[in-house]
Amino acid sequence: MKRVIGKINPEDRQVTIWGAGFSGLTLGHYLKNQGYKVTILERSNKVGGKIQTKKTSGGLIEKGAHALYLNSDGLELLKELKLEPIAANKKIKRLLMINGKPRRPFQAALLSKIAFNAYKKPPLISDGLTVAEFFKPLMGIDNVQNYMSPILSGIYAAPSERLHFRTVFHQVGTKAQFDSYWDFIRMMLKDGKAQPKLEVTGSVTFEGGMQTLINGLAETLKGDIKLNYKEPFKMKGNTIICTDALSASDLIKDARPDISSELARIRYQELTSVTLFMKREIKSLQKSFGVLIPLDSGYNSIGIINNKAVFPTNNENILSYTLIARKKLSNEDILADLNRLSDGFVLDDIDHIDNTHWDKALPIYDLQLYLSVKKLHQLSQKEENLAIFGNYVAGISLREMISAAKSFAAEPQKYS
Ligand SMILES: Cc1cc2nc3c(=O)[nH]c(=O)nc-3n(C[C@H](O)[C@H](O)[C@H](O)COP(=O)(O)OP(=O)(O)OC[C@H]3O[C@@H](n4cnc5c(N)ncnc54)[C@H](O)[C@@H]3O)c2cc1C
Repeated sequence: MKRVIGKINPEDRQVTIWGAGFSGLTLGHYLKNQGYKVTILERSNKVGGKIQTKKTSGGLIEKGAHALYLNSDGLELLKELKLEPIAANKKIKRLLMINGKPRRPFQAALLSKIAFNAYKKPPLISDGLTVAEFFKPLMGIDNVQNYMSPILSGIYAAPSERLHFRTVFHQVGTKAQFDSYWDFIRMMLKDGKAQPKLEVTGSVTFEGGMQTLINGLAETLKGDIKLNYKEPFKMKGNTIICTDALSASDLIKDARPDISSELARIRYQELTSVTLFMKREIKSLQKSFGVLIPLDSGYNSIGIINNKAVFPTNNENILSYTLIARKKLSNEDILADLNRLSDGFVLDDIDHIDNTHWDKALPIYDLQLYLSVKKLHQLSQKEENLAIFGNYVAGISLREMISAAKSFAAEPQKYS
């Protein structure tokens, strides 16, 4: 499916974008590069949406996205913006909570099970297939819950029983079926190898954190962004809506009621991001990226990032950790998770707590999202100058949004 809904009319060189989050800024940047006069209308008093870095005397705090996982379009964008990426430390371990302890995820028993079952035929890929159903014959339901779900939750914040296979593995395409899991694994490896070799790879941030990326984009759109914009929605020439789906639904409820009611069906997951500056280290997370935690394992968090280990230069003099949870976290919840990891933590061991709750943090990549996006593509066929873009259409990660925005801006009528 196309990663932007609708189209704009390239004969009209003016574009109004609603929302100055990463999607609005990126699309605005690429359209401006193509010679469009861009105006971005942002409801709040700042740009960046779910990307916000707070600078404190203790150090940097990422309230939302922590890193950009690079692809070639991402690297090219950074060059255009003259931003120097700081690559994540590659020498650290990635851990998964297994039987109550942070451990390396790929255990021999799991790998041999995968090798043993790899010649099995996976289920037919249908519209209703979930990620859990696809992988169950390969690794068994326990391993899906204990390994696959927490890994995917680190990206989608939803368990694999809810995640829609075709949306998460969009490389597979709508027609593909597999004779064996090997075929699927081969296709995924081929897809990875087809990507160009980059001089910087993996996750990156910037001096000053992710806000530097937002500021870089906003700088190229200087004078084109109106903050605190609260006027009612008007369709005036080329219009692109780059808010979350529910705000988009609200915006266009009078102008396009059919599109609005479909957008309202998309469901969102709340998330809390808590950054702690600690007086002492969490020993079990030493020299690790952090830990991903299965749901129902007694923890309040679904993941803990060891910021100092991942980006040492941005966290030089602090022991900084970020807890991500699918609900609000109280100080008691935070301490409970720290004490499950290592004994004896008390509030006094924490120098600073920054607690951010996002009520519509991420769209849930479930069957409903797939059906709604499909319907929105149909409904928008009759539109000449209305497009809709954001992380519920383009992909949840920033790099997917960069690639989608770039291709759309280059050919907004024929974009695919
Ligand atoms: C805690 C957390 C951690 C994450 N970590 C990562 C990560 O490490 N790497 C990664 O790639 N991705 C990460 N993501 C995902 C990524 O941050 C988001 O997918 C992305 O920032 C969403 O951008 P967006 O522009 O689609 O939406 P938003 O960021 O929600 O931006 C929408 C904008 O529209 C504005 N708006 C809303 N209504 C209106 C209106 N009526 N009129 C005008 N403006 C309006 C909002 O104020 C906002 O500025 C994370 C997300 C969260 C929540």
